[in-house]
Amino acid sequence: MPEDDAIGSNTPIPANPEPDDRSTSMGAATLLGLGLAAPLVAVNALLGRLAVGLPLLALGIVVHELVHAAVWVAAGRGSWDRVHFGWQWRALAPFAHYTQPLPATAYRLGAVAPLLVLGVLPSLLGSLAGWPAVAAFGWLLVIGAAGDLSVLWLLRGVSSCALVADHPSRAGCLVYPPPRPAGED
Ligand SMILES: [Zn+2]
Repeated sequence: MPEDDAIGSNTPIPANPEPDDRSTSMGAATLLGLGLAAPLVAVNALLGRLAVGLPLLALGIVVHELVHAAVWVAAGRGSWDRVHFGWQWRALAPFAHYTQPLPATAYRLGAVAPLLVLGVLPSLLGSLAGWPAVAAFGWLLVIGAAGDLSVLWLLRGVSSCALVADHPSRAGCLVYPPPRPAGED
């Protein structure tokens, strides 16, 4: 079977899509994500105090969604036109969705980027440099990425060239097999 070398986000959904449903309920995703983040949060308990303002946290959550979108657009060679921003009342939080299937690697990069950039990085930096507010911001943003961790967990084992789309109603994704490199355009 021929292998693709480059799959852009312009790639249409395959003709006979039989998506692999990698989703779970929103509630289960939150529990799963918190379970996956728990070891990280436990480290925070050792590091001490939480001292960060709510406005800063709110800003962090908004930037978190922007980082998702920016990395999906960049890594998937996509377009900002395909990013849908919204507000999810159930989670009392904003969200960013990429409205087309993305190659799994690009999807994973976009999913993990806010956790690393806004969570892990400031928490380590703040802890090492002795800046408790920066560390606290980072750890809270690690907790804020619990849902993203659960999505990455649901995608474990998915081929890097599969196409991944946000599930329309549940937490997680629909995974489409890689398209054939046919010469139709
Ligand atoms: Zn996220």
